[in-house]
Amino acid sequence: MTHNKVYSCPGCSTAYEVQLERATLVVCRVCSEIITDAVNGSEKPKPAHIPDDWSFLQIGTTGVYKNYNFTVIGRLRLQLRNEYKNFWCAIYEGGKCLWIVESFGSFALFSSTWQEIKSESAHLHAGKKITLANKVELRGEYVEKCEGVSYTGEIGSWIFFYPGFFVMQASNASGQTAFITIKKSIAHILTGEKVTLKELNLKNILTWDEWK
Ligand SMILES: [Zn+2]
Repeated sequence: MTHNKVYSCPGCSTAYEVQLERATLVVCRVCSEIITDAVNGSEKPKPAHIPDDWSFLQIGTTGVYKNYNFTVIGRLRLQLRNEYKNFWCAIYEGGKCLWIVESFGSFALFSSTWQEIKSESAHLHAGKKITLANKVELRGEYVEKCEGVSYTGEIGSWIFFYPGFFVMQASNASGQTAFITIKKSIAHILTGEKVTLKELNLKNILTWDEWK
């Protein structure tokens, strides 16, 4: 798909202009049809109901990341064995993708692209130390099997649209963090940082009395 190109939803004819420079998927927020995607083969996304969530972030929430304003334009939800993770896809700097993930009372922000790492890393587990290519050391916080993937809105660079992979997050005391997917001895990693709610300066969020 092409940045700034306008696509028409095959389900309801709503027009949608692709905002990210490297979008992977656009799902219609009106009728949940796939508007367009850049995925080949067995991972090709299909319309899937995305469950409501209890987050005060929503599509349309704005905030600040390293002096850049961002706007949330999509949500990808991973159902894990014991919990779920929302990956909020935000656009900043005219077309770059920022993933925002709630994580143990703070937020993890990932603006990097996916890196493939050595198969040895496929044996990652909670508590294990991992060393990134830039020598940063992190410790595994959790490893869980992903049992469901659903999505809405515009989704940036993403690999897996079906369950059957493991996810891991690892962090250190300096606030550096990584999110890792593991499938068939191949691991893919996003690196980022943890920030506090206050640092994000969020606007247009759901307030407590709007929760149903
Ligand atoms: Zn539609």
